[in-house]
Amino acid sequence: MAYAYDDQNIFAKILRGEIPNDTVLETGHCLAFRDIAPQAPDHVLVIPKGAYVTYDHFATEASDAEILDFARTVGRICDMLGVSPGDGGAGYRIIANTGANGVQDVPHLHVHILGGRVLGRMLPKAG
Ligand code: AMP
Repeated sequence: MAYAYDDQNIFAKILRGEIPNDTVLETGHCLAFRDIAPQAPDHVLVIPKGAYVTYDHFATEASDAEILDFARTVGRICDMLGVSPGDGGAGYRIIANTGANGVQDVPHLHVHILGGRVLGRMLPKAG
């Protein structure tokens, strides 16, 4: 795996405290904050603090502790937002845009957690 990490990306700057963010939760290995241009009433980004570009990069190279913290942080955010169907919430969507085809704008792994409205079909029809 040969990912080069650009430490000037905007989420790296957020992690270094160089630009502000609307933090929802910070853990040992992760930061969760509100998207600056929300596409749903609930729109939170979860990022690892480590220098990972994509989900596959993270899943391949991160430590067990980082992966566990990331997964648990996603769960905690769903709980905090009240979107979990297991707790009577109306549901949500997790998105990890990746690379050129995935139209990833920020080259630091992030998952979008979206909720608070019906989100429509997963993808528009091709064509
Ligand atoms: P993606 O296309 O998956 O890389 O999405 C990047 C997301 O980062 C977009 O939804 C942006 O609105 C969001 N974003 C960009 N800059 C910031 C920022 N400073 N604080 C919070 N969210 C941001």
